Amino acid sequence: MAIGPAADLAALAGPRTRVVQAGGGLVVPGFQDSHVHAPFAGRNRLRVWLNDLVGKAAYLEAVAAYAAANPDEPWILGGGWAMEYFPGGTPSRHDLDAVVPDRPVFLFNRDVHGAWVNSKALELGGITAASPDPGDGRIERDPATGEPSGTLHEGAAYAFNEQVVPTPTRAEWEASILAAQSHLHSLGITGWQDAWVTPATLEAYRSLAADGRLTARVVGALWWDRHRGLDQIADLLTQRESAGDAATRSGSAVAGFFPTTVKIMTDGVLENYTGALLEPYCDGCGGHTDNHGLSFVEPDLLAAAVTELDRYGFQVHLHAIGDRAIRNALDAVAAARASNGGNDLRHHIAHLQVIQPQDIPRFAELGVVANCQTYWAQSEPQMEELTIPFLGPERAALQYPFAALRRSGARLAMGSDWSVTTANPLEQLEVAITRIDPEHRDNPPFLPGERLSPTDAFDAFTRGSAYVNHDDGEHGGGVLEVGRRADLALLDTDVFAPGFATLERAPLTDVRVRLTAASGQVVFDSGR
Ligand SMILES: [Zn+2]
Repeated sequence: MAIGPAADLAALAGPRTRVVQAGGGLVVPGFQDSHVHAPFAGRNRLRVWLNDLVGKAAYLEAVAAYAAANPDEPWILGGGWAMEYFPGGTPSRHDLDAVVPDRPVFLFNRDVHGAWVNSKALELGGITAASPDPGDGRIERDPATGEPSGTLHEGAAYAFNEQVVPTPTRAEWEASILAAQSHLHSLGITGWQDAWVTPATLEAYRSLAADGRLTARVVGALWWDRHRGLDQIADLLTQRESAGDAATRSGSAVAGFFPTTVKIMTDGVLENYTGALLEPYCDGCGGHTDNHGLSFVEPDLLAAAVTELDRYGFQVHLHAIGDRAIRNALDAVAAARASNGGNDLRHHIAHLQVIQPQDIPRFAELGVVANCQTYWAQSEPQMEELTIPFLGPERAALQYPFAALRRSGARLAMGSDWSVTTANPLEQLEVAITRIDPEHRDNPPFLPGERLSPTDAFDAFTRGSAYVNHDDGEHGGGVLEVGRRADLALLDTDVFAPGFATLERAPLTDVRVRLTAASGQVVFDSGR
């Protein structure tokens, strides 16, 4: 309704008005997360949540405590363990057997490329020394006996999750989304793009939106099945239509659920050498391998898919990590432009780890939004040990070029990929600005030429993500302006006070959100 000094607004206060003193804090537009897995993360938060724990002993203690507190749960589910705490990155079933011998345990790892299971789960899944590896995954085995040792990789984990683990009910998905929503609201987030919507989570989102329990504004990215072709577009259209007429108006400023996007995962990740590269991976010792990584969707099919989806009015959200994947994704959007002409669908590419310099200007030229997961742009063990030696020095210097994208005129959006990494926008913004791990602020910055100014970084996490979510209309979010939806976060610190946030030091992780409002409604209040 109004923005201005307290004295000018005092006359608007009525008997039902609550006055909140910012006390030196700062009101910012509600953050919007442009790439998050809310139902999955919420589901794990309600079960065994290992993301915030360190090491095997802490994990096993949490699993044992959950099992003791939930004696009637037939399955022990959840996840968030990190490979770095296990020899070879592969935990053993025997450790889980020691704390839960009688019920099946299935725990995804933090980046959802594998799972840790106990003997009971393997038995229920019928996985033995005689079971073959699936084409798109691997069963970790005892080298002496061939017996499954308790880690399932990639497709082996997904197949187990789909075929053996009980399917969550709609009520369970609804509870999961609500658990995620309350966590995201507590971090000042008022809207997001869900980067992996399935028919089951679509149903849950729809029902939450229909009765007002969904207080965030959510754009849903329907999952492109890479084992199928263009014939799946008919199913995607049905899913989009099922959300109802109002929900498919992508420019709508109201809160609710809008399944107007399709997510295509074009390659894997660099840490396990499945990210798609133009030149082969190095061998870690100064030589080359002959592995170029994987294209999950071949370039011709990708171009045809993006062109068809664009023609049907879908926004396309592309996962692309390696330089070849990113070039193929840009080529696919170029093919859609050549065939269908320009439009306002705002296709975007997420992750953007290695980009060849000549591809950077193409984002602005094609109107492709750079969807940045800035928390990853820091030196940490995975980067130092698994990524840089296998990229080699030249490509390692091309990682996460967010400032170069910004300078080229590309629009930036930001998102977490939670629960892979933290959902907290302030932690991600600290890394976007400093390129330093907030827990080791004395570390040198990672490729410091790619640091973003505090203004550019906040702009990307608010207005930029609102843009990619088609939430920038005159009543939309992402900006503080009279006439817009009141999506607000109150920070306990004025992060734009002179000297607080610089490229060298921006301690945003220490800042807390005091209060969050979505569509004018208080959805989080820390009580402080
Ligand atoms: Zn993701």
